Amino acid sequence: MHQLQMVDLKRQYQKIKTEVDTAIQHVIESAAFIGGPDTQHFAKELAEYLGVKHVIPCANGTDALQIALMALDLQPGDEVITPSYTYIATVEVVALLKLKPVFVDVDEDTFTMNIESVKHAITAKTKVIIPVHLYGQSVNMEPLLAIAKEHNIAVIEDNAQAIGSTYTFSNGTSAKTGAMGLIGCTSFFPSKNLGGYGDGGAMFTNDDALAEKLKMIANHGQKVRYYHEMVGCNSRLDTIQAAVLRIKLRKLDEYCYARRTAADYYDRAFKNHPNIITPYRAPYTYHVFHQYTLQLVGVDRDMVSAKLAERNIPSMIYYPVPCHKQNMLKEFVTGSFELPVTDRLQDKVISLPMHTELTEEELEHITKNLLDIIAQ
Ligand SMILES: *Cc1c(COP(=O)(O)O)cnc(C)c1O
Repeated sequence: MHQLQMVDLKRQYQKIKTEVDTAIQHVIESAAFIGGPDTQHFAKELAEYLGVKHVIPCANGTDALQIALMALDLQPGDEVITPSYTYIATVEVVALLKLKPVFVDVDEDTFTMNIESVKHAITAKTKVIIPVHLYGQSVNMEPLLAIAKEHNIAVIEDNAQAIGSTYTFSNGTSAKTGAMGLIGCTSFFPSKNLGGYGDGGAMFTNDDALAEKLKMIANHGQKVRYYHEMVGCNSRLDTIQAAVLRIKLRKLDEYCYARRTAADYYDRAFKNHPNIITPYRAPYTYHVFHQYTLQLVGVDRDMVSAKLAERNIPSMIYYPVPCHKQNMLKEFVTGSFELPVTDRLQDKVISLPMHTELTEEELEHITKNLLDIIAQ
């Protein structure tokens, strides 16, 4: 067996090599490196896939979140409710724009935003809620959207880990994650479920005026070249990335299915184990397993991770330090502030290799070794 990876992009590439090489070559020959036709085509195709009116590509997922916040005419000190249990980018952009992150706890089973905590965190200054569809499944959006509507708060979905996932409302209709809030944001970082061969990101919205504004902000605040209406930034998805993403978008559902199949294997292997809690699949969402994250109970998680590494099996801790404990954000955490579930999860979680190319042989190797290490 060759060296296992958390995400095996080399093997995935081998299967689409001819298509990808041809598309990249075509961009190079056309010399339309920025804003070429593939970028527009990709935006349109992704909008169709998601069922939204507008997709605005940008340079990365962090920029997408930043530009989304910039488009909302917020004032310094306005409050933005976010989970602490997320990748730092979600919260960093809030602080960067001089807004105030207000951290809420997550549910222990889904790892996503606890809706009751959101209710309690709302004040007169709350302007935005950022639900993060962590590890590949949707936040419970129906009650969240209802609360946001009641208080006239904008919802910006951080969909960087869940593109391809869906949410089903109580009336039976469903929507793609990222397509339910005022703005959805995603990342095309190579290891994401829809990843390019470099950096990339996008924003989604159904609001025409907002789409126009997001586009302007991403382009130095201009609509007409050299006439700058507002302070923006420079955030573009280059044509080579768009060309690759067009090919991978056509395979996204298949890729999500492959991840779910690997997750099913893991689930079966770890079922009913006294020391292992397998990821919960909430009934309202289609989990696309950006990560396969276990909770280890009554065993030393760091020991397990070290022993897996000795056996050449990679594993990762997402995330060793939650945002509310990061020095970067310490000014926003005062007194004896605690997020009990987030704090507990920090010491228990471990993510196993998860990608589109895992074979049964590899899955067997990973699960047997993990069970063996825990039994020692
Ligand atoms: C990856 C990620 C981002 C940021 O995306 P980049 O493209 O790396 O800037 C934001 N939020 C979450 C939850 C992510 O996983």
